[in-house]
Amino acid sequence: MHTVTLNNGVEMPILGFGVYQIDDEDVCEESVYNALMEGYRLIDTAAVYENEEAVGRAIKRSGVPREEIFVTTKLWVQDAGYKSAKKAFETSLKKLQLDYLDLYLIHMPFGDIHGSWHAMEELCHEGKIRAIGVSNFLNDRLMDLIVDHEIVPAVNQVETHVFTQQVENAQFVKEHQIQIESWGPFAEGKNNIFKNEVLVSIAEKHHKSAAQVALRWLTQRGIVAIPKSVHKERIIENFNIFDFELSKEDMEKITTLDTKESLILSLHDPGTVERISNMKFHD
Ligand code: NAP
Repeated sequence: MHTVTLNNGVEMPILGFGVYQIDDEDVCEESVYNALMEGYRLIDTAAVYENEEAVGRAIKRSGVPREEIFVTTKLWVQDAGYKSAKKAFETSLKKLQLDYLDLYLIHMPFGDIHGSWHAMEELCHEGKIRAIGVSNFLNDRLMDLIVDHEIVPAVNQVETHVFTQQVENAQFVKEHQIQIESWGPFAEGKNNIFKNEVLVSIAEKHHKSAAQVALRWLTQRGIVAIPKSVHKERIIENFNIFDFELSKEDMEKITTLDTKESLILSLHDPGTVERISNMKFHD
């Protein structure tokens, strides 16, 4: 398994499996089970996806030793704050049928993130979480956490794909030893990514698919990627990216696809912030 080393020394697989929008419990369990059977060792879920129980069942059913699997879940906005974060963490852990978590992320930079981070630091010190991080944080929000707390986030999980390359953010987080993790590595299928001419032409050269090139490009930049699929053949395809290498020229060609803007979630838009902050899930 190819890994990256986080700022606290914890090893994290560079390629994993995401379960956003797999709402059907049985489909989620089967997909995670298939992913684990095919060799994935990083699973990314979130309380708000409402599928932590299915993920837990799949992990148990797989028989893969717990210490070989890197499990991430996320704290949703409705549970922001010191006390609520601790309670939400215990709820997630129970649903996942685990006694510790590998990575716990603040899902969105909204609400009482400082209270949440304080709680997460304590859970980390107690050995209940191996690493803590954030998601969808712009650099100013990251700095706000860094200056005010003891633990520097190990990870920032942000929208990153060939159309939103996060080049400037990558530079900032590198300076602060924060690992970028790409969500939406296929831009959730937007912009006809799987038929993109640049990706397809590079893929043909390497006898690979556009999807594999998109993932290889991320991991070759040192970015962790967590593609989602409910189809077994795609789960296998997406994992099969370590037997080829993109050339410098391939990497440069892909650079031209960058729009430098978010395609899926604009964190600058007050309407989006309001919508997300009001989004609640059932406990
Ligand atoms: P994604 O992985 O970019 O794209 C998933 C889409 O691509 C699905 O429609 C899937 O269809 C399709 N697909 C997958 N492999 C394919 C292949 N080889 N060929 C053709 N189509 C393929 O989108 P995502 O699920 O939004 O992002 C990945 C993970 O990131 C999520 O599952 C979640 O864990 C995380 N995430 C985090 C946040 C956050 O705010 N922190 C936000 C979004 C996502 P099928 O399933 O039908 O195969």
